[in-house]
Amino acid sequence: MTDRLKNKTALVTGGARGIGRAICKLFAEQGAYVIVTDIIDDEGKDLVEEIRQNNGKAEYQHLDTGDEKNVAEVITPADSIAVLVNNAGITGPDKPTHEIDAEEWDNLMRVNVKGVFLCTKYALPHMIKNKSGSIINLSSIYGLVGAPDLPAYHASKGAVRLMSKTDALLYAKQGIRVNSVHPGYIWTPLVEDLAKASEEGVDAFRENLDSKHPVGHVGKPEDIAYGALYLASDEAVFVTGSELVIDGGYTAQ
Ligand code: NAP
Repeated sequence: MTDRLKNKTALVTGGARGIGRAICKLFAEQGAYVIVTDIIDDEGKDLVEEIRQNNGKAEYQHLDTGDEKNVAEVITPADSIAVLVNNAGITGPDKPTHEIDAEEWDNLMRVNVKGVFLCTKYALPHMIKNKSGSIINLSSIYGLVGAPDLPAYHASKGAVRLMSKTDALLYAKQGIRVNSVHPGYIWTPLVEDLAKASEEGVDAFRENLDSKHPVGHVGKPEDIAYGALYLASDEAVFVTGSELVIDGGYTAQ
């Protein structure tokens, strides 16, 4: 089946690489008009070109999710966005809490929490008008359980989990569904950067991550894209306020 998102416009933040990129490609394959947005413009434009060469429909927009002016320029009242994927996120400082400075904390929250709030705020009026919409927020296993690292990231992903549930309740009667997705470790540039910065080196870092997942390995961006596809499609009309965990068993332990 290749038309699960036919006639739907989907906007994906942080869509140029990693999980967002896989979501953009899969959504386009399934018939969506995809608005790829990111702050890395060359990669975003290249992706749009690739989608078009594969007969998909897409455009690129520069969108810094933490910048309200930029969000208001890109998500305008003229749009009819059916699906919003709040995917853009950063890991922030990998330090214990007492070593994080307030500026590092604020920078992380600006992207991971305020960015989700702003894009949701500006997309909602179209969805309310259309009495339908699907908002998919990328949280994490780190929004469900703790680990002794990335304290600010944990806090931000916990916030995204509950923002999703509250918005699910606020807009349920208006036909708008809001769900969070909780990936385990997925091998993307974000995780590769953590591996490169680690003391043990990339290979040992990856082996250690693999061993934390009961299936024996970390995930691929496509593993998350298929979950997002389900939540975006009309197959999920009864699904709202849910947390879709795609983690190779990480949080089952
Ligand atoms: P990624 O490879 O770093 O891709 C994220 C994209 O978002 C990058 O292109 C990044 O640009 C962009 N971005 C950063 N700040 C932005 C901003 N202010 N506005 C718009 N775009 C911005 O990350 P990923 O691993 O695919 O992760 C995607 C989402 O899944 C994130 O929310 C992440 O927290 C979540 N997640 C990931 C994993 C994992 O293991 N990979 C696990 C659980 C949850 P730059 O390259 O310039 O930073």
